Amino acid sequence: MLVHYICRVCGMPLATTRAADSFDPRLGLSALTAAERASVLSFQGDSVTVNTYCDTCAAVLTPTNPSGHSH
Ligand SMILES: [Zn+2]
Repeated sequence: MLVHYICRVCGMPLATTRAADSFDPRLGLSALTAAERASVLSFQGDSVTVNTYCDTCAAVLTPTNPSGHSH
């Protein structure tokens, strides 16, 4: 099974790995609901795309300075 990681925001391909055919990416997402897993994972034949965030988009979506120190 090929596992493609792409950024769900900008669509940039992040990584592609080959996993064992018995690999189930859902196992790593047990904290998510079924609906959330469905939004993260999309299966195409024997490959799966994991919709995640690249470093750039993660930085935008996750403010590193939420307390807002003034300068
Ligand atoms: Zn991105």
